[in-house]
Amino acid sequence: MIPFNVPPYVGKEEEYISTAIKKRKICGDGEFTKKCNEWIENRTNTTKALLTTSCTHAIEMAALLCEIYPGEEVIMPSYTFVSTADAFVLRGAVPVFVDIRPDTMNIDERLIEEAITERTRAIVVVHYAGVACEMDFIMDIAKKHGLLVIEDAAQGVMSSYKGKALGTIGDFGCYSFHETKNYSMGEGGALLIHNKKDVANAEIIREKGTNRSQFFRGMVDKYSWVEKGSSYLPSELNAAYLYAQLEKADIINEKRLKLYRLYYELLLPLKEKGYVELPTVPKGCVPNGHMFYLKVKDLGERTSLIQYLKEKGISAVFHYVPLHSAPAGRKYGRFFGEDKFTTKESERLLRLPMYYELSERKVEEVAEAVGSFWK
Ligand SMILES: *Cc1c(COP(=O)(O)O)cnc(C)c1O
Repeated sequence: MIPFNVPPYVGKEEEYISTAIKKRKICGDGEFTKKCNEWIENRTNTTKALLTTSCTHAIEMAALLCEIYPGEEVIMPSYTFVSTADAFVLRGAVPVFVDIRPDTMNIDERLIEEAITERTRAIVVVHYAGVACEMDFIMDIAKKHGLLVIEDAAQGVMSSYKGKALGTIGDFGCYSFHETKNYSMGEGGALLIHNKKDVANAEIIREKGTNRSQFFRGMVDKYSWVEKGSSYLPSELNAAYLYAQLEKADIINEKRLKLYRLYYELLLPLKEKGYVELPTVPKGCVPNGHMFYLKVKDLGERTSLIQYLKEKGISAVFHYVPLHSAPAGRKYGRFFGEDKFTTKESERLLRLPMYYELSERKVEEVAEAVGSFWK
């Protein structure tokens, strides 16, 4: 059986977790959390990174920091995970979904400007599969209309766009360290903050609305409730698990890219015969091998292929029922313009097994099984 995902494990996780336990420091913001924050700051060159309990919570923090109010609109793709929209719906905002580009499955940057109204406050981009959206174009629109930009870079850790790490281009970037992502702490994420002016507020929101972070740094002599907030900081035990992986990030990244390239090479003949489409990486984007997907003819063919692979012991999956057609999406959001690609492309996309410990041998096995489907 070849599973779809196995959570990453590199070897030092137990040692670091037991270090945290022996130090009797297991709540948030201990040594490992700080090391993870610093690692992200150094590697991405962002102003400030704060580890969070999930990417969902990082997006919620971004929505709070943007001070989005009920009735205001936020432009985003419909082809994404629920949290992209839910974080803003929790603030009473209206997600306005626009169509995606079929080549990258990312928001179609050329459709954003038309969707802007006087209630629009922000654009949320999702870097699908760790491949960047057209950020120069999007940042220009945002600047022109005075909008904030939030990057859902859940899948984009270690990817870049024109030399900039994903998550560092907009006002806020959100990473995921869920067990299905390239680097993991079980459940967890990070908020990347672009502007210095937002750092103090972010620390307050993350610490239950208190100025506890400033208190620990000796900047104030008592800590108290100063703003609205929640508890968005993860336990040291989770941060310790993550730090072991961040130390090995280059090795993990290289391995995933190698598997990605191997899939691509082995499936290329199927593309040339017109059976499948393979992912594209636009110029200027450096990806991270987060996922390998292919697109088949239609929903029916995808269903048969999933079943066919399952019988061969291979778990291939699809995801994202477009948010605008889901019950909550219909209730809270609206689709702007025509759904030319979101539904159609989402129905024919299939993800193949991809994880750090996957062997090249297994990739060959999967590619061969996929190819035999058309024989
Ligand atoms: C995984 C994912 C999330 C949610 O991440 P969590 O850490 O599980 O909250 C959000 N957006 C996208 C695009 C994702 O892939």
